[in-house]
Amino acid sequence: DARRPGMPLLWFDGELSSADTLQAPLTTHAMHYGTGVFEGIRSYATRDGAAVFRLREHLERMGRGADLLGIDFDIEQASEATLQTLRANGHRDAYIRPLTWLGTGTDGVTVGLDVPGLSQHFMVVTLPTVVHLNGKRSRLTVSPWKRNPASSLPPLKLCGAYINSILAKRESRLRGFDEALFVDEQGYVVECTGANVFMVRGGEVTAVEHRDALPGITRDTVIALTGAQSRPVTHHELLDADEVFVCGTAAEVAPISALDRREFGDNPVTRELQALYARVVRGEEASHAHWLTSV
Ligand code: PMP
Repeated sequence: DARRPGMPLLWFDGELSSADTLQAPLTTHAMHYGTGVFEGIRSYATRDGAAVFRLREHLERMGRGADLLGIDFDIEQASEATLQTLRANGHRDAYIRPLTWLGTGTDGVTVGLDVPGLSQHFMVVTLPTVVHLNGKRSRLTVSPWKRNPASSLPPLKLCGAYINSILAKRESRLRGFDEALFVDEQGYVVECTGANVFMVRGGEVTAVEHRDALPGITRDTVIALTGAQSRPVTHHELLDADEVFVCGTAAEVAPISALDRREFGDNPVTRELQALYARVVRGEEASHAHWLTSV
């Protein structure tokens, strides 16, 4: 049996195994070229036990990424694997990371860019979420790196594409900020390294729209909850906003305290929305119960 007491269990290629027993070959294609697709999903403790928030939408997005790379992906199987991993680990409040990737050729050697014939793999790891970023106000700086344009890399959760986010994040940290904001060549806001951007002006909530930005599921949730309009927003408009917040599965709804030298004051609209989002994901808003999948 691949299970060991006390060791977290991972779903890997059709079964649950103890995390410390799993290995991937050094010739794994994804390690050389970033040919994988991942998701970031969350489950929450609700009154009726643990539930995954918008599981189907996350797996559908993952399926679109897998299609691009020619990786077979079955949403029903991925969904079942996710639920089984959560149950096996007894996780309630958890961050869920499914990953599918290209492995090795039949000869075990990886050299080429042709992907047909490579092995395909799928894993799910679930991590208990202890620290909530929620409540902490973050400081943003405009990234010197531009976002991957959608005409070169579609905005999906393709592993290799995340080098772009990592460079921007690293530069923002070196400058003493928490997070980077991508702005395009024309001065339009794109998104952050792992979250979408919103602004509030005169009490009105606006979702930043950009073709190079990941179509965020939290963004979609916030639009549904607030009736926010979605439109392109310039860097200057953002500097002029009353409140700015970013949102994503991990970040949830996170208020921004500064954009470079522009400081933002109190953020009452963001705080109210944070509280509403927290109730929705925990199943405390009956009207949105359909977004939850019981574990
Ligand atoms: N943009 C990027 C680049 C991301 O990685 C994420 C996190 N998945 C988001 C936005 C937010 O997306 P979601 O709300 O679906 O988590």
